[in-house]
Amino acid sequence: MGTYEVKQYAIPLNVTRGRAYLEEESGVRTPFQRDRDRVIHSTAFRRLEYKTQVFVNHEGDLFRTRLTHSLEVAQIARSVARGLGLNEDLVEAISLAHDLGHTPFGHSGQDALNESMRDHGGFEHNLQSLRVVDELEQRYAEFDGLNLCFETREGILKHCSLKNARELGELGRRFIDKQRPSLEAQLANIADQIAYNNHDIDDGLRSGLLSLDDIRNVEVFGEHYSDVRSRYPDLPSRRLVSETIRRMINTLVTDLMEESGRLISDANPDSIAEVRSLPTLIQFSAPVAQKQAELQKFLRDNLYRHYRVRRMADKAKRIIQSLFDAFHNDRSLLPPRHQERAKVDAPRAIADYIAGMTDRYAMKEYHQIFMVDPF
Ligand code: MG
Repeated sequence: MGTYEVKQYAIPLNVTRGRAYLEEESGVRTPFQRDRDRVIHSTAFRRLEYKTQVFVNHEGDLFRTRLTHSLEVAQIARSVARGLGLNEDLVEAISLAHDLGHTPFGHSGQDALNESMRDHGGFEHNLQSLRVVDELEQRYAEFDGLNLCFETREGILKHCSLKNARELGELGRRFIDKQRPSLEAQLANIADQIAYNNHDIDDGLRSGLLSLDDIRNVEVFGEHYSDVRSRYPDLPSRRLVSETIRRMINTLVTDLMEESGRLISDANPDSIAEVRSLPTLIQFSAPVAQKQAELQKFLRDNLYRHYRVRRMADKAKRIIQSLFDAFHNDRSLLPPRHQERAKVDAPRAIADYIAGMTDRYAMKEYHQIFMVDPF
């Protein structure tokens, strides 16, 4: 246990600010290895396999899902964590858990559910990830949720409104005090961006929604693409793209590691408390950050707003809102377990039920409630 060393600005391997329910720590695994393992064994984690990242699961077998996205985030975050002497187990646990609260159908699903929940406290996937690990998973005898460490939960809660922060006690404090989270949490957040920017290019090209001619005008893609092409002029197109993306990820990871290393050594924080009061230390260099922003804008304009993506998003919105309205108007349509929960707070119980659905489960529920098959 604890076979590697972390720096003084990292979250220590074996010390946590604690879990909501007191548990004896394992003699074999660090608290954060244990958190990671609990996330992997959760039901919500398995559901990620059938939840949309950009492309709905049934649109193709090779597109990223929330599950493969989360694995890519964890891989990137771990590489950087090791390079910077951060707590790799913690960064892995945060990365694997960061999307557990996502609704079916990606961001359009969340927007629709948020709209339905407007008068009932709203819906936010980030806060929902925390609800999943704090309450909704039910697999341990002594507590609801996964009873994760403070540091893991802090990393999952990337952002939250001041109103929600006030209700979260200790965990919400940093939003009120305007402090930063641990470097591990900062890292998981930026690894998320590296992962989705790169895999969305890959999926966008694979699906034919993005064209190579267009994306070559985006500097960070174009420069690597030209390098690869001049070095391997006969490489088939798919491999050319894969090799380009591989190099892009490598450039980003290297830049992130170098720039963050520089910022850390300049600030020289000697404790976690100091890290929290400093500006964000896990960052790209300015030129790379600018290229990333250009790429993100390209993806927004050309992929996320592509008419075919918008059509699916529009359908998703109808499914989510129709389901919510149907359950809200008549709770007896809910499965018994959720009817029971709806006795306490019906809108929240319905939102939890819908948010937990996979894409295809939501489509199936929609079909069962609204469609009539003659035979
Ligand atoms: Mg993500």
